[in-house]
Amino acid sequence: MKVNPFETAKRQVDIVCDIIGVNGGVREILKNPKRELTVNFPVRLDDGSYRVFQGYRVQYNMARGPTKGGIRYHPDVTLDEVRALAAWMTWKCAVVNLPYGGAKGGVICDPKHMSMSELERLTRRYASEISPLIGPEMDIPAPDVYTDSQTMAWIMDTYSMQKGYSVPGVITGKPIALGGSEGRGEATGRGCAYVIREAAPHAGLKVKGSAVAVQGFGNAGSVAAKILHDEQGAKIVAISDSKGGIYTAGGMDPHKVEEYKHKTGSVTGFPGAQPITNEELLASKCDILVPAALENVLTKRNADKVQAKMVAEAANGPTLPEADEILFEKKVTLLPDILANAGGVTVSYFEWAQDIQGFFWTLDEVNQRLERTMVRSYGDVHKEAQARKVHNRTAAYVVAIQKVVDAIQRRGIYP
Ligand code: NAD
Repeated sequence: MKVNPFETAKRQVDIVCDIIGVNGGVREILKNPKRELTVNFPVRLDDGSYRVFQGYRVQYNMARGPTKGGIRYHPDVTLDEVRALAAWMTWKCAVVNLPYGGAKGGVICDPKHMSMSELERLTRRYASEISPLIGPEMDIPAPDVYTDSQTMAWIMDTYSMQKGYSVPGVITGKPIALGGSEGRGEATGRGCAYVIREAAPHAGLKVKGSAVAVQGFGNAGSVAAKILHDEQGAKIVAISDSKGGIYTAGGMDPHKVEEYKHKTGSVTGFPGAQPITNEELLASKCDILVPAALENVLTKRNADKVQAKMVAEAANGPTLPEADEILFEKKVTLLPDILANAGGVTVSYFEWAQDIQGFFWTLDEVNQRLERTMVRSYGDVHKEAQARKVHNRTAAYVVAIQKVVDAIQRRGIYP
């Protein structure tokens, strides 16, 4: 049976509220989305017919500032999934201390079977339907599954046309030509590499010379692999994508693997490497495992086979709760998704800050600020984990939810 992600999200809030002693009305606020919009809108398809699509925008909590979160296009989108993703965005923004609440949007559609012009019309009409709820001071969307910088450009343009002037700060993940930020493309993988570097000494590891296995070689995984290899001297021993994986005990140059994937469409068959499955990659002989593809890959079935001393979640939700416990007992250092992949939303915040000032930063400035944010946030989580003797995931939730609780309590309730 498929788990309802919003039930999971609410259970996590209960666990943390029990730890930090939050009850009554504040706990109820944390377990309910503040605002939800469902829209049904027609789109003209290329054959001239009309089809009605359903979309959502959920603003989960805005106690700490305007809400922030991506827009997902997928046939399996549900309102409960969007609610859960919006809750997780609230905690992710809080753990790295961005002045944002959390939100998420989604449209039930199958973008793989739609033309570019159909996607443009769908995007512009969806943007128009949710436009009363979004804006640079209100709610700032971003890309998520099957939406990209082109989708963001259409949303920016649609919103700006309605206002009568350009509003780049309404959305992040835009092309640089429209006010996007330097460094946004590699921010998630780079942020993850910084957190790994900071956590390594506490896990008894030196990144230099450590063997790293990366599941998923897309935006998050390939950048993390390249930075760990180039800047921190790690040895990338295993890489995979949806077609399968490759392993070499002596390590591979991730740039060469990327070139090869570019030419052939997959990492599989990379010369000199041994073929492995995605399941074997998770259990491969390595020091650091970076799941950077899908959710729910580490389960109670395979968690005890993990040989890595550290698991850094570049992907969202790769580890099931039962697997968390097994890894904790095995003394594996887990770097939870809301911390390890928060580099993306952090540079989205930088993009918004640059847009509203109309003043743009160099790549070095962006990366230095990203590094400061990730180092400080890892430190906060590590301190909390030590003080409460809990694992890093619980500690990250405690840090995040405590900040949201403080904001709710300081603001009080209107009227
Ligand atoms: P992407 O589409 O660029 O890459 C995904 C990679 O995973 C591809 O290499 C693909 O081949 C591989 N993959 C797909 N199915 C697989 C399977 N069954 N087994 C193994 N590999 C498989 O996506 P991305 O942007 O890198 O996102 C990856 C994860 O990181 C997601 O969980 C996403 O939510 C998370 N994330 C990404 C960002 C970001 O800024 N890109 C930010 C936060 C979190």
